[in-house]
Amino acid sequence: MHFASRLLLILSLLVAPLAFANGADSKLPFTLKGQWQQGSMLIGNTVPGNQVWFNGRALSVSPDGDFVFGLDRDEKPDAEIKVQTSPEAAPQIWPYKVAARAWSIQRIDGLLPDKVEPPAAVTARIEREAVLLNAARDRDTPQTGFRQNFIWAATGRISGVFGNQRILNGIPKQPHYGVDVAVPTGTVIRAPADGVVSLAEPDLYFTGGTIIIDHGQGVSSIMVHLSALKAKVGDVVKQGDVVALSGMTGRATGPHLHWGINWFRSRLDPEKLLPPMPVSRKK
Ligand SMILES: [Zn+2]
Repeated sequence: MHFASRLLLILSLLVAPLAFANGADSKLPFTLKGQWQQGSMLIGNTVPGNQVWFNGRALSVSPDGDFVFGLDRDEKPDAEIKVQTSPEAAPQIWPYKVAARAWSIQRIDGLLPDKVEPPAAVTARIEREAVLLNAARDRDTPQTGFRQNFIWAATGRISGVFGNQRILNGIPKQPHYGVDVAVPTGTVIRAPADGVVSLAEPDLYFTGGTIIIDHGQGVSSIMVHLSALKAKVGDVVKQGDVVALSGMTGRATGPHLHWGINWFRSRLDPEKLLPPMPVSRKK
């Protein structure tokens, strides 16, 4: 192909999805709800039987055509959705741009080493527990709880927001992959959406009492620092069911609920899925 016409083709491919997203092209074989922004979850619908990929990953499509994917805190700006409408049809690709968000980065130097890295004696334990957590997050099950309007697992002052990161003695620590709600120990923690309990551990090193609820198609909630678990692995829970009591187990400096939402291993911002907290929040 001539260079100029190839360039024109590339340019038209880049521009096309913007028009599609505005509904200008009725031939788009899917609809999408959600923001193309780091930390967001997007829910799509297509004709059941169509195959859909997000950034090369094949997505489950529910019997009524729903699919879901999430944009990680550090999601790259270029994304694409690929759809194949029949085994004979050529797959079509739509590129999208993911908007970056600004995360607060805090540098603290001069800390004692034991405040920065966990002791070597617990390394094997931490690795073992990471395997458990990843296995729960890797599930791809047909539940459709992810389609509900999520509710707050507990209400209270928001004491920590998603995405912040601390750099201690020059070492970047894991960013804050969840929202913190300051609640006294023993506060009931509710399932934010329907699902199945995929992990219930009373005492993990970092997260203490920990519950993961599988909301289907890779979407899961993790609630940590719990003082008591009120559900076990395999329990089917409805939105609003009590699954645990809050606490400050694991590496927590005070009682609070830490709640994270994942799409597989991508870390999403719970506040993007929720109505505003129904109490006054920290400035
Ligand atoms: Zn937290």
